[in-house]
Amino acid sequence: MDTLAQLPKYNLNEEQEKKLILREYRALLRALKTKLKPGDKRLIRTAFEMSVDAHKTMRRKSGEPYILHPIAVARICVEEIGLGVRSTICALLHDTVEDTDISLEDVEREFGNEIARIVDGLTKISNVIDVNASQQAENFKKILLTLTDDPRVILIKLADRLHNMRTLDHMKSDKQLKISSETVYVYAPLAHRMGLYNIKTEMEDLAMKYLEPDSYKEIARKLAETKKERTRYINEFIKPLRDELEKADLKFEIYGRPKHIHSIQNKMKKKGVSFEEVYDLFAIRIILDSAPENEKSDCWKVYSIITDEYTPAPERLRDWLSNPKSNGYEALHTTVMGPQGKWVEVQIRTKRMNEIAEKGLAAHWKYKEGSADENRFDKWFQQIREVIGNQDTDSVDFLQDFKTSFLAEEIYVYTPKGDVKMLPVGSTALDFAFAIHSAVGSKTIGAKLNHKLVPISHKLRSGDQVEIITSNKQKPTEDWLNFVVTSKAKGRIRDALKEEKRKIADEGKYTVQRKIEGMGGAFNQHNIDELWSYYKLSSALDLFYQVAIKNIDLKELKDFKVFGDKIEAPKPVKVHEVKLDGHPHHHHPLGKKDTELIIFGESSDKIVYNLANCCKPIPGDDVFGFVTTGKGLTIHRTNCPNAAKLMANFGHRIVKTKWAKNKEISFLTGLKIVGLDDVGVVNKITNLISGELRINIAALTIEAKEGVFEGNIKLYVHDKEELDELVSRLLGLPGIEKVDRYDTEL
Ligand code: MN
Repeated sequence: MDTLAQLPKYNLNEEQEKKLILREYRALLRALKTKLKPGDKRLIRTAFEMSVDAHKTMRRKSGEPYILHPIAVARICVEEIGLGVRSTICALLHDTVEDTDISLEDVEREFGNEIARIVDGLTKISNVIDVNASQQAENFKKILLTLTDDPRVILIKLADRLHNMRTLDHMKSDKQLKISSETVYVYAPLAHRMGLYNIKTEMEDLAMKYLEPDSYKEIARKLAETKKERTRYINEFIKPLRDELEKADLKFEIYGRPKHIHSIQNKMKKKGVSFEEVYDLFAIRIILDSAPENEKSDCWKVYSIITDEYTPAPERLRDWLSNPKSNGYEALHTTVMGPQGKWVEVQIRTKRMNEIAEKGLAAHWKYKEGSADENRFDKWFQQIREVIGNQDTDSVDFLQDFKTSFLAEEIYVYTPKGDVKMLPVGSTALDFAFAIHSAVGSKTIGAKLNHKLVPISHKLRSGDQVEIITSNKQKPTEDWLNFVVTSKAKGRIRDALKEEKRKIADEGKYTVQRKIEGMGGAFNQHNIDELWSYYKLSSALDLFYQVAIKNIDLKELKDFKVFGDKIEAPKPVKVHEVKLDGHPHHHHPLGKKDTELIIFGESSDKIVYNLANCCKPIPGDDVFGFVTTGKGLTIHRTNCPNAAKLMANFGHRIVKTKWAKNKEISFLTGLKIVGLDDVGVVNKITNLISGELRINIAALTIEAKEGVFEGNIKLYVHDKEELDELVSRLLGLPGIEKVDRYDTEL
C-alpha cells in the first residue's frame, strides 16, 4: 500500500468535480441517517452550502477542490468517532473562519452559540498552529486549554489531523516530517487517551511511513511474507474455541487481531529484539453479542472456556470489566499458551464495549447522563483543568508533564480503605500521597505497601495497597521532583520549594541591601537587576537565595562602578571557547537550513558540533543535527529517545546531517553483554576487543549472579561498521547470549 511513489494525478473537469463533491456529501448524510431529527438535514445543508461557497476558489495541494477536506473531516467525525449532527456542522465549517470571509458572527447567527463556540475553538487551534510556530509546545498548551471547553473541539481536531495525515503525500518533505512528528508526539497519544484506538494506530503508522520510511517498508514487507503462516496458526488456535463457544450457545465473532507496523516496531525497540521475535506474538479478539445484564458473566464464561483449552499465564490477566480504564475501555484480557508453545493474547469484550474501544467514550458521552462512564470521563477533564489552571512552568515541561500524567497507561492502586486511585504508569508512593491530598503529600516520609515498609520513591504496580506514613516535621526537597511523575505532585512540590526558597531568600535580601548601600548605591530595581544579571542568574529572588546560602559572596562588587546612586557592572571579559578533546571545533556560521551538512572528515567542514549525550551517536548511525543556542549543532541519532520530542517541539531547529568517513577520530559508545558465567569470560571478551580487533576499551564492569553475567563495556570505535563487526564477533563467543548497544547516557 505504499503510495509514496505513484500519486494519482488530479484532473477532473468542472462537471465531474461537482459530481464528486455531491457524492461525498451524500455519503456523509447516509452515515448520519440514524441520528437525524426533523430540521437537522436543513441545518447540515446550510453548513455545507456555506462552506462550499466560502472555499469555492481554494484548492488543496493535491489539486482537489478544498471543500472535499471539510466533508472528509465530517465523515471521520461521524463514521469513525461516532459524533452527531452538531459536530458535523462544526467539521464542515472548521476551516471557514480561519481561511475565508466567513466570520464567527456569521456562524453564530446561522447556527447559534454552541456551534459558534466550537468553531471558535477550532479556529484558535489552527491559528496557533499555522503561524509557522517556533514554539510548538506553547501551541499544544493552547490546544489543551481549548480542549477543556468542549471535548468535541479536540475530537474534530483529531479528525482534521487524521485526514491531513491520510493526504500527506502531497506535502513537501520538510512539512511531512514536521506534521508527522507532531502527530506521534501529541495527537496520537491524545487519540489514545480519548479511547480512539483505531485512529491512534492509523496516525502512528502513517507518521512512521514518513519519519522512518526504511523500517516501515521493511516491517511491512516481512508482515506480508509471513501472513500465510500467521493466518494458519490463528485458525488452528481458534478452531477448538469456536466449537466450544458454539456449544455454550454464545453469539460471538472471533478473529485474529490485525498487526500494526508501528506497534511491532515499538516492541522491537523497547525490548531490543528482532522482528522474528515479535511477529509471532499473536492476538485474538472475541466480540460477544450479549444482553446488557449478561455482559460481565458472558465474558467470564468465555474466559473459562479458553482456559479449559489452553493454559493461561495468571499474571497476564487484565480485568477491565470491574475496573474500566479512565478512557472508558472495558474488556477482559488474558494470555494463554497456544499450540507450539506460543503465547497468544485473547481479548474478550461485548459489542457495546467494542464500540467504545473503537470510537472512544466520547461517542457515548452526553447522552448517557449520570452513568459511571460519564463520571470517569468528566473526572479526567476535571483533573486536566486543575493542572492547566495552576501551571506556571515553561511550556516544554508542561507538555512533558501532561504526557506522563494524562496520556500514559494507568495503574490502579488501593487505599487501606479499599478506594481505588488511578495513576499513570511509573507513579511512586509519593505520587500516590499527593493524589490523596497535597497536605498528605508534603508530609510523607514513607509508605506501607501491602503492609511492608517502602521508601517514598517506590514505584507502584496495579493492585498495590498503599498506606502513607506522614510526619509533621517533613517538608518537600529538591530531589522529590525526581521521585514523582504526576503533574499534580510536581506542581505542588515546586510550589512548596518556591515558598521555602522565598523564606531563605529573605535573609540574603538583607545582605544584598547592606552591601549595595555600603558602597553608596541605592537598594532599587535597577541596581538589583544589574547585580543578578552580572552573576548570570535568572531573577532577583535567585540572587537573594544564592547569597543567603552563601553560593555568592558578593566580593566582585568591588569591581562595580558607582554613579550617583546607580551601580554598574564591569564589562565582561571575553570568553574563549574550549576545544573539546577529540572533537574538532570549527567556527563558522551554520549552513542554510535544509541543506545537507556533511559532518566529520573533510577539512572543508565548517560546523561547530557536539555529540548528544543522550544517545552518543557514532559515524554510520542515522543522525540529525539540532541547533542549540550557543553550542552550535548537537548531533542526535534519529532513534534517540529524545528525537520525537525535539522534532515536534523545535522543528525549525532540525538540520539534516550525514557522516563522512574518517578513520582517525574515534567515538565513545557502550555495549551491554549478557551471557552464561564462566571463569574465562572477561578474558575472552577483552582479548577479542583489544587483542584481535584493537579497539580501545574505556571501562569494563562485569557482574555475575546465579550463573548469569552482565557486562558493561565502554569503548572507542570509529564508526558503526566497526561496532557492528564487534557485536557479531562477540555474539560468536561461546556462552554469550545477547549484546546490546546502550541507548541511554553512558
Ligand atoms: Mn482542516
